[in-house]
Amino acid sequence: MFNTQKILNDFPILTRPGANGLPLCYLDSGATSQRPNQVVAAAARFYTEINANVHRGVYRISEEATEAYESAREKIRAFLNAGSTREIIFTSGTTEAINLVARSWGAKNLNSGDRVVVTEFEHHSNLVPWQMLAAEKEIVLDVIPVLDDGTLDLDVYRELLKLGPKLIAVSGMSNVLGTIPPLESMIPAAHEAGALVLVDGAQLVPHLKTDVRVLDADFLVFSGHKMLAPTGIGVLYGKETLLKEMPPFFGGGDMIRKVFLRSFTVADLPYKFEAGTKPIAQAVGLGAAIDYLNLLGMDQVAAHEHELTLRAIESLQAVPGLTIYGPLGGNRGSAVSFTIEGIHPHDIASLLDREGICVRAGHHCAMPIHDRFRIPATTRASFYLYNTEADIERLCSGLKKVVSIFA
Ligand code: PLP
Repeated sequence: MFNTQKILNDFPILTRPGANGLPLCYLDSGATSQRPNQVVAAAARFYTEINANVHRGVYRISEEATEAYESAREKIRAFLNAGSTREIIFTSGTTEAINLVARSWGAKNLNSGDRVVVTEFEHHSNLVPWQMLAAEKEIVLDVIPVLDDGTLDLDVYRELLKLGPKLIAVSGMSNVLGTIPPLESMIPAAHEAGALVLVDGAQLVPHLKTDVRVLDADFLVFSGHKMLAPTGIGVLYGKETLLKEMPPFFGGGDMIRKVFLRSFTVADLPYKFEAGTKPIAQAVGLGAAIDYLNLLGMDQVAAHEHELTLRAIESLQAVPGLTIYGPLGGNRGSAVSFTIEGIHPHDIASLLDREGICVRAGHHCAMPIHDRFRIPATTRASFYLYNTEADIERLCSGLKKVVSIFA
């Protein structure tokens, strides 16, 4: 049994008042999650008891800092079931991780005329880096269209694979539609066609158990701040054989073995890709977030969210004039985006805020999918493990109030 009351006790921010002194109803975890006491304490403990730079000192607390940092890496490895910590690269987040792959793997392996496949619902982070590279190297960017129900047009995907793309860059869960693409069939098909696959796991890893060996993704990227951890820390998982052959992305301290005045040699994995001082306390916080998720159990987290999401979709459909974009049932994520006829999404979000309800309005850094549905913006409610049915009731009654104001 998922004990949300016990969970809520770990998130003091969720018991503070929102606007107008009303209880806070936080429905924007798709943008960033809240952090439990355990994560805040782990980061604070790092600063108050262990703080020192890593890998460089021979003194006691530097060794302890290195141990804390590397033990976070090991927790991430185990969480993803990766084969080795050499495959776990700390980045500042999803965006940096995708740019790293584009600028390192892409720069080395993509040439004029090569094809990269993305989807119509990608976040700008998994679109713009490829567009930039495409402009520089005359790479062709192919797009898997999205069908009216928010799923991918897999017939087109199969046709695109016949053109021999080098890479498929696909989100594991759409941050707008909540769509979960069938990676279990898309990845083997890509491999059969000779393409590598990068999975943008920003919305996937926080919500669904993700086993990189089962998935067989070549690259998987995600951000700590969407999964209970501090901001400024994220992960690039890459298969060791690929990472080994990739040139470094940033140059500087820690990523080198030896430096001469006019040349350098590169450090081993994973440090080859970790130039400069990394966000150490944040990495330790990510380790604590993983401990927290493991204690709850990712299967239980997913089941709780799924039940909540389906309940939300059912209740939202009773709001007059409301349209949901994305799958209305089945295996889908907990981001639910919608419009209400005649009311601007920003007005909806502002009026909900007066009720203490936090939702996001806009294009959610995914303009093309809004263009696809011929809408400039949506309002998005996104749920996480600390949300309850009471939150959904408040959202729906808040929306009915909004509708009555505009009526
Ligand atoms: N990809 C997806 C699907 C996202 O939802 C987000 C953030 O909303 C990102 C990428 C970018 O993540 P970050 O801003 O943490 O780099």
